[in-house]
Amino acid sequence: MDGQVIRKVVIAGGGTAGWCVAAALSRLLHPLLDITLVESAEIGIVGVGEATVPTIRAFHRNLGIDERDFMRNCQAGIKLGINFQNWARIGDRYIHSFGLVGKSPWIAPFHHFWLHARTLGFGGDLNDYCLEHRAADAAKFYTGENGPLSYAYHFDTALYGPYLRKLSEAAGARRIEGKIKSVQQDSETGNVTSLTMESGQVIEGDLFIDCTGFRGLLIEGALKTGYEDWNHWLANDSAWACQTGLHGRLSPMTSAIAHQAGWRWEIPLQHRIGNGFVYSSKHLSDDDARAQFMRELKAPVTTEPHLIKFRTGRRKKIWNKNVICFGLASGFIEPLESTNIHLMQICATRLVQMFPFSGIHEAQVQHFNQATAREVEKIRNFVIMHYKLTERDDTEYWKSRRDMEVPEDLAMRVQMFRDCGHLFQAEEELFRIDSWLQVLPGQRVHANGYHQIARAMPEARLREMLDGMRAEVEATLARLPDYETFIRQYGGAPKPMTAG
Ligand SMILES: Cc1cc2nc3c(=O)[nH]c(=O)nc-3n(C[C@H](O)[C@H](O)[C@H](O)COP(=O)(O)OP(=O)(O)OC[C@H]3O[C@@H](n4cnc5c(N)ncnc54)[C@H](O)[C@@H]3O)c2cc1C
Repeated sequence: MDGQVIRKVVIAGGGTAGWCVAAALSRLLHPLLDITLVESAEIGIVGVGEATVPTIRAFHRNLGIDERDFMRNCQAGIKLGINFQNWARIGDRYIHSFGLVGKSPWIAPFHHFWLHARTLGFGGDLNDYCLEHRAADAAKFYTGENGPLSYAYHFDTALYGPYLRKLSEAAGARRIEGKIKSVQQDSETGNVTSLTMESGQVIEGDLFIDCTGFRGLLIEGALKTGYEDWNHWLANDSAWACQTGLHGRLSPMTSAIAHQAGWRWEIPLQHRIGNGFVYSSKHLSDDDARAQFMRELKAPVTTEPHLIKFRTGRRKKIWNKNVICFGLASGFIEPLESTNIHLMQICATRLVQMFPFSGIHEAQVQHFNQATAREVEKIRNFVIMHYKLTERDDTEYWKSRRDMEVPEDLAMRVQMFRDCGHLFQAEEELFRIDSWLQVLPGQRVHANGYHQIARAMPEARLREMLDGMRAEVEATLARLPDYETFIRQYGGAPKPMTAG
């Protein structure tokens, strides 16, 4: 007797979430587990979700995924950050890159030294201290052994699931095609015991992973876990999405362009652009949004626009009884900072680390739920910040964003930066000081003070230090190859493939 109680894992749903969990469990815990994934080609996947954050690279590394193989198979491009336009005011532009901004010489973060230099009349532009920022703007890129850049990917969502499926099946996961008709529960404990397919097949399991998308077939349909709605903070509830051909020079950035009642994305892959138009249906009708979206597309469409309705918020418990939900089944933060795939991958890693082989224990479930809740809230607040800090008053939508009450924690952090330039990265927070440092000024929030430790550095030394840092960024930038040339050679797909 090995003491293992949980062996049979059933994953319901085969979108990005389902296959991410399947890949993590099969590649890292097989042969200890018997893994079955159920999906329905007829229902299909949500078909969006193509921009990521750098943590995806650690996820891939843990799973032993070869970067170039992934890039070729998923038409992946590089993402160095997001190019925000029209957010604080119409005509504004800023980049939120994944890089570090400067290097701190002493105990206080770098920007305090830069702020002090600015009062003395030197120091230049803050973005000149960030290689990723400059490389994104100049469309330059290099990776490899000790590559200098922090980056993520843009990839084709219709190719990523099948790519992970191949890896998962090779590692022992089993896939069943068909629709789940009903979910059976134990009458005493309420635990899920099996899924019954439309074909009549019954799939039993010890642990069930709900990746059925917005439906949340197990976590909500069966367990009635409940949902916390965040629409009052994040008003967008709809998106049109379509694909177009490439246009212009290939960019290593997602674009997020604000419009009258939301924003529009452009995600450049190797072979096409993914486009979307996110909006609040209270402020803009679906038909008007579609018409505006079509007018703003820069290249001919290759797929007809499809409408996606969503409800921003989170499931009250990610793990309830013997069901854990991932991806859209667990909740949704609108995609402004491309954080949903990150959240599912971090939870998949957490599940591997805490896998309940010996049975489900309440304290462990609580820890899992609390850690996930903290992570999600921090991301939610960071996204809310982009709306709250607008100065736009050209539409009711923007006025309502500017005037809304925000979570206390966010209000405090923004005020603290305004008052004394202090920033921090909280426990279980994805975004570093460097992210706040790019988005806050990008949204026209500036620090009125800074840490006086900066004054302790002699002016000549401060000047020399800052000049040196900027020169280093410039010298590295000059050595970086053109992004498009590099990527076609490094991870180029053999021939353009069209995704569904
Ligand atoms: C507009 C929009 C833009 C987004 N952009 C980004 C982004 O840029 N970056 C990012 O990180 N995230 C983004 N996301 C989120 C991202 O798309 C999702 O997190 C990701 O695609 C995972 O989806 P999923 O697997 O949870 O759900 P889905 O893709 O909906 O998959 C659900 C699966 O469940 C199966 N299923 C459902 N019901 C049944 C049933 N009865 N029987 C059998 N199978 C069933 C389906 O067949 C499918 O396989 C975006 C989301 C939206 C809505």
